Amino acid sequence: MILRYKTYFLEFIHPFRIAINTRTQTPIILLELESNGIIGYGEASLPPYLFETQESVIHFFKKVDGDYLDTLSSMDLMLDYIFQLEPGNMAAKAALDIALHDLWAKKSHQTLYSFLGINPSNMRPSSFTLGMDDLKLLPLKLEEAESFKILKVKLGGYNDLEIIKSIRNHSDKPLYIDANQGWTDKELALERIHWLADQGVILIEQPMPKKRELDQAWLLKRSPIPILADEDCQTYGDIPQLLGRYTGINIKLMKCGGLREAFKMIKLARELNLEIMMGCMNESSCAIMAGAVPACLVDYIDLDGPFLINNNPFQNPRIKEGIIQFNDSPGLGLEPI
Ligand code: MG
Repeated sequence: MILRYKTYFLEFIHPFRIAINTRTQTPIILLELESNGIIGYGEASLPPYLFETQESVIHFFKKVDGDYLDTLSSMDLMLDYIFQLEPGNMAAKAALDIALHDLWAKKSHQTLYSFLGINPSNMRPSSFTLGMDDLKLLPLKLEEAESFKILKVKLGGYNDLEIIKSIRNHSDKPLYIDANQGWTDKELALERIHWLADQGVILIEQPMPKKRELDQAWLLKRSPIPILADEDCQTYGDIPQLLGRYTGINIKLMKCGGLREAFKMIKLARELNLEIMMGCMNESSCAIMAGAVPACLVDYIDLDGPFLINNNPFQNPRIKEGIIQFNDSPGLGLEPI
């Protein structure tokens, strides 16, 4: 098996501000795995707060022995091999996991969802994310969000109420809120959540800093809407300790290491009666169409990455009634531009 990879930067249409930073682009690595003339595509997305870099991903890829991968007879054996190479490196592992899934589904002439036995007909609408931009941009951004039925709003700054009031002046779509750990006082957080619930907010993601176990448990008991863990839930092993602190979890391929891990997390979360969101980093169609497969099994979907950038290296996914559409091509069905 031949590994090819290149560095790339996804450029945001508008500078993207969240509670912790603002950025104009996201470094990624695009991966191709080629076997017998068939190419599987993968992607590692590397927002700056995740510690992995383009260099660390390339360092990890250099440890992968493509000839050895060819001797392994199942996807599980290949992923076991990749996962034991080094701890961490979840985005690098996600890229390899995605590319292997694309490749194997293509080899069997199936779409990835059929290959994995997933029925796509129950997929729910995805949200479209609004960063904490200058409010003057809001009408334009709402126009860009037109094909989406749900908006996800980044809060956690000084003007949270002003942002929501402005949105409500233009749109009555249901809202997801992501505070990105931006609220540090539990009483204020609760007051804000009650106000947001009255504004048509369906759920709130990571309102308080991670590892604030007692405050988060206090907040969950009193919150009128679901609270989902994002920064507090990186991998499978984090899930059990979130019980009693969160209603559910936000799974992202780049945090957990790819599709196999995402399916394991979904299974465990369901056993523990936790709700599930399938989310994303800023990603191209490659990682998004991979994430769209486990997304068929979850309660909330936030897979909007390609719609926030202007240089997607693949065709954008199609959206119908706010729902991401699969095409009939084998694997991820990606069309490089
Ligand atoms: Mg989040």
